[in-house]
Amino acid sequence: MDISERFLGRPWDALALFSGGLDSILAIKVLQEQGLKVLGLHYVSPFFGKPHLLDHWRRTYGIEALPVDVRRPYLDMLAAPDHGYGKHMNPCVDCKILMLRHARGLLERFGAKFLVSGEVLGQRPMSQRADTLNLIRKGAGVVDLLLRPLSAQKLGPTPMEESGLVDRALLPGIWGRGRRGQLDLAAHFGITDIPTPAGGCRLAEAEPAARYLPIITGLADPRPEDFHLSGLARQYWAGPYWLSIGRNERANDALEAACQPGDLRFRLKDVTGPLALGRQYAPRTPSADFSPQQWPDAVLADAASFAASYSPRARAEAEAGRTVTVLLLRGDSVTELAITPARQTPLGWAEPKPSALNAWKKRKP
Ligand code: SF4
Repeated sequence: MDISERFLGRPWDALALFSGGLDSILAIKVLQEQGLKVLGLHYVSPFFGKPHLLDHWRRTYGIEALPVDVRRPYLDMLAAPDHGYGKHMNPCVDCKILMLRHARGLLERFGAKFLVSGEVLGQRPMSQRADTLNLIRKGAGVVDLLLRPLSAQKLGPTPMEESGLVDRALLPGIWGRGRRGQLDLAAHFGITDIPTPAGGCRLAEAEPAARYLPIITGLADPRPEDFHLSGLARQYWAGPYWLSIGRNERANDALEAACQPGDLRFRLKDVTGPLALGRQYAPRTPSADFSPQQWPDAVLADAASFAASYSPRARAEAEAGRTVTVLLLRGDSVTELAITPARQTPLGWAEPKPSALNAWKKRKP
C-alpha cells in the first residue's frame, strides 16, 4: 500500500511543511490547539529528510507526517536555482518554492484547505526576510493558501484568518533570530524533547557542499546515488576523475554496497588496505582530452597507486622492494595492476575544498 493512502479520507484541514525541526513542530501545534487537523509533509531529498523518525515524531509530539520524495525535481533545480544559493550550496528560496508548489498540488488529494509553514519572519538572512517570504508565496502560487502561524501577528491576515477558519487572535507573533519565543511556546505545549537548531540540511554545511560541487558541475545527469557516495568515504578528484577511498572497514563495506554498474573497484591483493571506488560517468561537458565515462589505462594505474598509498602495509611492501598488486574489479572482470603506492601522483588527486565553492559562486553569472 502506498504510505500516503493511510492518510487519505481523513478530515485534514491543512498540510504543513514538516522538517522535524522545532519551528515546524510548533507551527502544527498552534493549529492543533485550535482543533485543526494538520498533516505534516516531510520532504526527502539527497540532502535532507529523516523519514525514519516519522514514528518518533508521532509518539513524541503527536504529529502525523507523510514522507514525500522530491529527489528528482530537487536535483533538476539545484544546478541552477532561479534565486541563487545561500552561504553554501543551499538554494533556500527555490527549495521552499519547490516544496510549497508541490504541497499545493496535494491539497485536493487530502481534502485540505490550506498550507502551513514554520517560517519565522527575520530568522534567516536569505529566506525569511519579509520580501523573500512574499517572493516565496508568489513563486509557489500559494499567496492565498499559505499560513505562517508562528509569525502571524507580524504578517498580514490571510484568507484563512479572515474567514474565521483559523483564529488569528490565538496565533503568536514571533520574529527575529533568537529562539526565546519558540522555547516559550515549546514550554507552553509541554515539549521537553527540543530538536537541535541545526536543520540537518547538508547543502547548508561547508564540507558536504564542497563535496557536492564537482558532482553538480561535472556530471551530465547527477543521481541521488552520486550524492550518497560523496558522504561515504574520503573524496578525491583529479580533473574529471572521481575516486572514493574507504577510511575504515565500515566505510569499505559502505562503498561496496554503494557500487553501481560501471563503477571501478580497486582492492589490494595479499595485503590489507582500503577499498577505493572510481565512479565512471557521462560528463556535463564532453572533451576529447578526458574520458570520465571510461578511464584510460594511465588513469587506472595512477588511481591504483594513490589508493594503495593509504595502506601502511602496501607502503611497507614497496619500501622492502616487493611488488604491490592492486586488483581492479570491473563488474565480473578482474585485472591485476602492479603499482608503487604514491600519495603524489602525476594526476594530482585532491579533496574538494570549500574555497572552490565560493570561487565557483563568484564566477556564476
Ligand atoms: S536549509 Fe536546505 S532544506 Fe532548508 S530551505 Fe535551505 S535548502 Fe531547503
